[in-house]
Amino acid sequence: MLDQTRIDALRLEAVPSQQHLINGTWQDASDGQTLDVHSPIDGSHLSRIAAGTAHDVDTAVAAARQAFADGRWSRMPPVQRKKILCRFADLIAENALELAVLGVRDNGTEIGMAIKAEPGSAAQTLRFYAEAVDKLAGEIAPTPDGTLALVHRDPVGVVGVIVPWNFPVMIAAWKIAPALAAGNSVVMKPPESASLALLKMASLAKEAGLPDGVLNVVTGTGQVVGEALGLHMDVDVLAFTGSGATGRRLLEYSARSNLKRCYLELGGKSPNVVFADAPDLEVAAQATANGIFRNSGQVCIAGSRLIVERSIHKAFTERVVEIANSLTIGDPLQINTEIGAVHSEMQLAQNLEFVAKAEAEGATRLTGGERVLQDTGGTYMSPTVLDNVTAESTIFRKEVFGPVLSVTPFDTMDEAIQLANATEFGLSGAVWTSNLSTAHRVTMGIHSGMLHVNTYGGSDVTIPMGGMKQSGNGIDKSLHAFDKYVNLKSVWMKI
Ligand code: NAD
Repeated sequence: MLDQTRIDALRLEAVPSQQHLINGTWQDASDGQTLDVHSPIDGSHLSRIAAGTAHDVDTAVAAARQAFADGRWSRMPPVQRKKILCRFADLIAENALELAVLGVRDNGTEIGMAIKAEPGSAAQTLRFYAEAVDKLAGEIAPTPDGTLALVHRDPVGVVGVIVPWNFPVMIAAWKIAPALAAGNSVVMKPPESASLALLKMASLAKEAGLPDGVLNVVTGTGQVVGEALGLHMDVDVLAFTGSGATGRRLLEYSARSNLKRCYLELGGKSPNVVFADAPDLEVAAQATANGIFRNSGQVCIAGSRLIVERSIHKAFTERVVEIANSLTIGDPLQINTEIGAVHSEMQLAQNLEFVAKAEAEGATRLTGGERVLQDTGGTYMSPTVLDNVTAESTIFRKEVFGPVLSVTPFDTMDEAIQLANATEFGLSGAVWTSNLSTAHRVTMGIHSGMLHVNTYGGSDVTIPMGGMKQSGNGIDKSLHAFDKYVNLKSVWMKI
């Protein structure tokens, strides 16, 4: 149960200037430069972070490599590694409110969602992979008599982790938990506008007993720190979540350096397909609104395209509009707020531009599409519903990453599937129907990594999350994620 009084006290705590964590030591950028951090809640100046340099990345990678090579973590008995990672998870759970409030202060997610999605999910993820540490084994292959073939699962070495500003703690945990559990060392680059909770998380890893040099954090811009990590000759794997544009750059960095493996979790434009025979259209309407408007639409799997059967198009859309208009927008640290802040002025301007372009291309704006609460000094946008959106229009194809829902009617199941697939993305989506056959045929027909039936957005650390098409090339979560952070090594013996 969230306690408003505690949240109000935590939000007033001063945030000191932040440093990198390299080889277990907190340190400034090599040239002493810093970056300002502002709050999207009210535009106020929150703190400073170290503006990392390529030299800082070198130092952090060298520390990670040394820690890996001397075996202080990679060769620690698995049962001991498990204990430390479980302690790390416990500390995240114990400090959940502090982490969540700090994170909301620099990223703007409503606290009710942040508390579950950020520390809640991170603790669960760490525990899941910690518990697997001493249960995953190599293989003995079924080879001919007189031979013995072993398949080892070796940690890759040094893993670079680059994460975005929406849900940074949760997404970082999806990567660092399996990477550390597999025995690797990590250099993490937080998003420059939302580093605070990740730095606090790193301090908890240290407190949990993770040896120095095993988890290093270098803050700063993507152009400097991200690029240096991407181009580094001694980083073995890069695990990334963010935009497609940056993902493409990382593949280039890999090609220009040491061919490091790059796992990319990118954007989406997910379809939410509603048939007239949905078991409960009111539940579907609520989930449709929730699936696009929570966290101001800054959710990679947001159901940003409502594809609705023509017979219910008008009534269903009207209901979604009513729900959108009833949502409480405002200070994300008030526990009754349902839509918090848009992360930045830049993101807000981009959202508004998408809406204007959609209208110019023929969409009908039924509600929203405006900046609101400007007097707070923060960045807020009203939930937006655009009707009569065609498959050719920009708003149908491009990710907004804002609270903007487009609506497109369909007549047949085949048309619904075709519309659902008519973007470059393939991250998530949903189908609402009472017909089992329709549910199976639509989920089989949509090219996306994660689909829902008669719900939107449910997930768990036990199942893979990843994209098809230009939504990415890897998966986070589940035991399958271990594969990203190990090399399979075969040993063939004549015996
Ligand atoms: P972004 O690509 O701008 O930034 C992500 C990270 O990459 C940041 O840490 C940034 O500093 C770094 N970066 C930026 N330029 C870089 C460069 N040249 N070299 C190396 N690193 C660089 O993305 P964003 O705006 O922070 O995040 C929003 C995007 O993330 C959306 O597209 C969203 O859909 C996607 N996302 C995907 C998932 C998923 O699981 N698939 C989850 C959350 C967000």
